[in-house]
Amino acid sequence: MTNHNTSLFCPLLPLAAVLALVSVTSVAGAVSPSDLQKIMEEERNYMKKKVIDICHKYVPDLPAYGSNNGLGNFIKLETSIKLGGLSNYSVFKLATHSGTHVDAPGHFNQTLFESGYDVVTLHLPALNVLVVDTPRDKNITDMFLIFGIISCLPTYLFSSDIKRSLNIPRGVKRVLFRTLNTDRRLMYKKEFESSYAAFTSDGAEYLVQNTDIKLIGVDYLSVAINPKEELVKVHQLLLDPKDIIPVEGLNLDDAVPGVYTIHCVPLRLVHGDGSPTRCILFQ
Ligand SMILES: [Zn+2]
Repeated sequence: MTNHNTSLFCPLLPLAAVLALVSVTSVAGAVSPSDLQKIMEEERNYMKKKVIDICHKYVPDLPAYGSNNGLGNFIKLETSIKLGGLSNYSVFKLATHSGTHVDAPGHFNQTLFESGYDVVTLHLPALNVLVVDTPRDKNITDMFLIFGIISCLPTYLFSSDIKRSLNIPRGVKRVLFRTLNTDRRLMYKKEFESSYAAFTSDGAEYLVQNTDIKLIGVDYLSVAINPKEELVKVHQLLLDPKDIIPVEGLNLDDAVPGVYTIHCVPLRLVHGDGSPTRCILFQ
């Protein structure tokens, strides 16, 4: 699905910033012509960037983990202008792991949960990220991480030693994995699909021990493959170090493999073991 509204989302921000700055400085003093020129130049540069919204819309048919019914009617009008209310005012109820969302360290570990490792503790700076395609018939295993990712990486990210060793280069910290899930359009199917592609425990173990990856994006509802034992093991392997952030349920339809800047901004839910998040790529 194409994100027709992506260009409307962020480009409004710098304009708002300019207007805010002009209005503040017109009270406090004058904006110098060179300052204004600089601001407008920054806005022009910003507008040139390609923005890709990698979030799914929250709709009743968005799939929910383990359910055949999707999210259902998760949002309801409490008051309505049509019915004589002063405003339209809705209330919504969503699982913390609905749609495009992040997992917190306490999601699969009671000690971490009780120690306060919630979504507020996640460190999510806006930094470079790689989007890679995975083999379409496989999960994300250790063998894929060792060999498969290499062909997707731009050569300038490698040292010659790294190329020879065929390991993921240390220093690559954020990777989004575009899998068969995207081709199968699983996030557009209301019924939960248990045969989705995701990390196996050997893949998770390899990633933790041999890479610097701290943000892992996947294109279905879980970073871990489905059998219960693997679901638990993969999450614990990735989350227990407390500094790796799975971003699940991403919309990677329009994100071709390459290098981007990623902004992921979850809600600041204190005690949240997960949270819906906005994620945007800039190219
Ligand atoms: Zn989750």
